[in-house]
Amino acid sequence: MSTSTPTPRPRATVATIPAYVPGRPPVPRPGQQVFKLSSNENPYPPLPGVLEEVARAVAVMNRYPDMGCTDLYAALADRLGVRPEQLAAGTGSVAVLYHLLQAYCDPGDEVVYAWRSFEAYPIAVSVVGATSVQVALTADGRHDLDAMAAAIGPRTKVVLVCTPNNPTGPAVGHAELVAFLDRVPSHVLVVVDEAYREFVRHEDPVDGVALAARPNVVAMRTFAKAYGLAGLRIGYLVGPEEIAAAVRACSLPFGVSSPAQVAAIASLAATDALLARVEALVAERARVTAALADQGWELPDAQGNFVWFGLGERTAEFAAAAEAAGIVVRPFAGEGVRVTIGESAANDVLLEVAARFRDA
Ligand SMILES: *Cc1c(COP(=O)(O)O)cnc(C)c1O
Repeated sequence: MSTSTPTPRPRATVATIPAYVPGRPPVPRPGQQVFKLSSNENPYPPLPGVLEEVARAVAVMNRYPDMGCTDLYAALADRLGVRPEQLAAGTGSVAVLYHLLQAYCDPGDEVVYAWRSFEAYPIAVSVVGATSVQVALTADGRHDLDAMAAAIGPRTKVVLVCTPNNPTGPAVGHAELVAFLDRVPSHVLVVVDEAYREFVRHEDPVDGVALAARPNVVAMRTFAKAYGLAGLRIGYLVGPEEIAAAVRACSLPFGVSSPAQVAAIASLAATDALLARVEALVAERARVTAALADQGWELPDAQGNFVWFGLGERTAEFAAAAEAAGIVVRPFAGEGVRVTIGESAANDVLLEVAARFRDA
């Protein structure tokens, strides 16, 4: 083909989209159990009642799902004490974020968020052609809310607050978040990403639904982590009706599948089993963080289902040692390693690897 033949050209912003680096799956090894601790997944199977509902929904996959997510919104509204009109669901809360940025950002508008934080943020911002304004975390992996407030400028449309912060772990307190929101101009939309909220054991936990009573705040939640539905892809936001409506208007038609909708409803109904699993994972987190502290590690406060080792230049070395021992972790080149709290046997491997690494 001649080089002068014009070919379709993507928007210029597409070349700026960073690649999402997914947690790698484990490579099976003869004679060794290998655990995936690289994607903050839940080690437990679906909650009681979920598989049956999903099987029923799968059997009628020749039909489109309920585009209005009527039953799901009713169940969530009931649980959260909000109106169904305040909800917008998507194929994972990442999709909800994409739709929200599409609804609110023109090219060149700014989105302020802490960094390092969730790796989907810069991707979602680039996709709409908006500009990321990244505000450095504090040395102990926390949001610097003063610096974030100072970073809000005339082109800022959206601020993202990730609590607990993925991948470092600390959570923002409710009172400090309220004080921050009081400083944010009323036309700037604040997204409180509560993906790991069930795991938070902070003395002043953020209540995203309460905050979403403000006219410019939404809470974003997911069924992927505590509820264990990562593979079905379903998350949602709760916020003011006008914002939820704008996000729904930008959503893919029929995006959330019927199996995902019924799985979410059944998971919401399995409250006791959910709480028991979350407690067990929180107890494992406490066991792991206490043992790591005994080994001499000084790690950021872990409020999600993961721990963060800010290893800098030794990141790749740690990840390789972990892999050799049978756990796949998530390295962030030159910065650190995030390790999901998994089944006890997997966490034991992490503790062995960490102990050997400190002695080396
Ligand atoms: C995992 C995660 C999500 C949720 O992703 P899904 O698209 O719902 O699977 C959102 N925010 C953060 C910070 C996460 O770590």
